[in-house]
Amino acid sequence: MPDQTGRLSAEDRKLILNWLQSKGKNHDCPVCSSNKWMIGDHLIAGRIHALDPHAIARENYPQVVLVCTNCAHTRYFMAVPMGLVLANDLGP
Ligand SMILES: [Zn+2]
Repeated sequence: MPDQTGRLSAEDRKLILNWLQSKGKNHDCPVCSSNKWMIGDHLIAGRIHALDPHAIARENYPQVVLVCTNCAHTRYFMAVPMGLVLANDLGP
């Protein structure tokens, strides 16, 4: 489980790698065709876009970030459907 700062554990990284291998046959970078990616140390918060920013100020979609080690192209995957349990899911 990611810690309170969103940092991923070794178990999280293993889960992410297994999930990616189960879902895709081709992980070549669309920019440079390299097939070497690194998992970001932390989850990234994808913020909701709305006209009233106060209504959604704390809402976001936690995402795993993958970065191509050759050209730095970045991919995002939704963390919860990947099976990552978040600290907030466990209550206050
Ligand atoms: Zn690349």
